[in-house]
Amino acid sequence: MMIEAAFYQRQSILSQIGDKGQAHLKAAPVVIIGAGGLGHPVASFLAAAGVGRILIVDDDTIDGGNLNRQFLFTPEQIGENKSEVLRERIQKQNPFIQVNSLDTRVSLENCQEILSDYKLVLDCTDNFKTKFLLHDACFLLKKDLIQASIYQFEGQLQNFLYSNDEVRENGCLRCLWPEVPSESCVGNCEQAGVVGAVAGNIGTMQAMEAIKSIVGMEVLTPNTTLTFDLISYQLNKFKWKKYGNCPLCADSSVSLSTISRPKLGEFEILASSLSQQKVIDVRNSTSMIEFSDVVRSSQEKNTHIVFVCNKGIQSLAVTRHFRALGFSNTWSLFEGLSGLDKDSQIIG
Ligand SMILES: [Zn+2]
Repeated sequence: MMIEAAFYQRQSILSQIGDKGQAHLKAAPVVIIGAGGLGHPVASFLAAAGVGRILIVDDDTIDGGNLNRQFLFTPEQIGENKSEVLRERIQKQNPFIQVNSLDTRVSLENCQEILSDYKLVLDCTDNFKTKFLLHDACFLLKKDLIQASIYQFEGQLQNFLYSNDEVRENGCLRCLWPEVPSESCVGNCEQAGVVGAVAGNIGTMQAMEAIKSIVGMEVLTPNTTLTFDLISYQLNKFKWKKYGNCPLCADSSVSLSTISRPKLGEFEILASSLSQQKVIDVRNSTSMIEFSDVVRSSQEKNTHIVFVCNKGIQSLAVTRHFRALGFSNTWSLFEGLSGLDKDSQIIG
C-alpha cells in the first residue's frame, strides 16, 4: 500500500506548493456544482492534487449524448445519477481524500445550505440561471467561486474570491451583467454543440485556478474574464469595472431571494398559467410549419397557445417566430419542463 505523501511528491517538490501548500490542499473543503464536461476534469485534477474534501452536486442522470465530454462515464452507466457515479470514480482515483455526492439540483431554496460547509465553490454548470444563483450566493455568503463556461470551441474562466473583503468591494458579476442573460442568447451544449476536448481544457484551467487559490499562488486578477479559443489558441483577458448601481454589490440590503427572483422575458409565461392554455410540446419538432394551422385557428378562437420544450429555449424561438408573424396569442413556458417540479404534470 502506498503512502499518501508519495501520491503528491511530484508537486510538493515545487517551491510554490511545498509541504505547506500540500497541507492547505488537504484541508480544503471544495464543492463542485455540475458533474458534466467541466466537472469531470475539475473533480479529477482536484482529487489528483490532494484536495481533502470534495462534494459533487448534480441531479442529472447519464445520457448517451454526454459521453463525448463526460469521459469518466461509460455506456453501461447510462441512466445512473451523475454525481454518484463520478464520486465513486474519483474516490477510487484518490483513496486518501473524502469524496461525497449529492443527487440534487441547486436551487434558491437549498443553495445556502449546500454551500455552507465549503469555502471554495467550483461552478461547472451550463446555464445562466444556476451560474448567477451560485455567484450571488457566494457573494452574500463570502465564499470563493471559480466559474467556467464553454461555448462551442471557446471557453471562459473567471474567479470571484469573495472571502476577501477587498475583492467584494471591487465589484461583482452583476456589475457586468445586472440581469441574468436569457438562456436563448447562446444555448447550452445540447443546442450549441461541444467537443469534449474543449470542456476538458477549460475544466483543467478551472482546476488549476482552484489549486492556485488554495495554495496562495497568483490567480486571475479580480474583475477579469479570461477567454480561450481552442481553434486559434487565442487567449484574451477582459477587465470590467465596478458598476455604481449594481443590484448586488451596490445594494447593502439585498438578499438572495430578492436578487434571484425569476424575471420573465418577453413572450414568456409561468407554469401556473398553463391550465387555461393550449400546450404544445415542440421538443421533437423539426419545422415551425407543423404548428401554423393550430396557431391560426387558436388566434381566430381568441385562445392562447403555450409552447413548451425542455429548457424554454427552443419554445421561445418558436414563439418568437409566430410573434414576428403577428400571432400575439403565442407564449413560451418560462425555463421549460426542466424548470417544473419533477412530479408535476402538464395537461395539454
Ligand atoms: Zn456588482
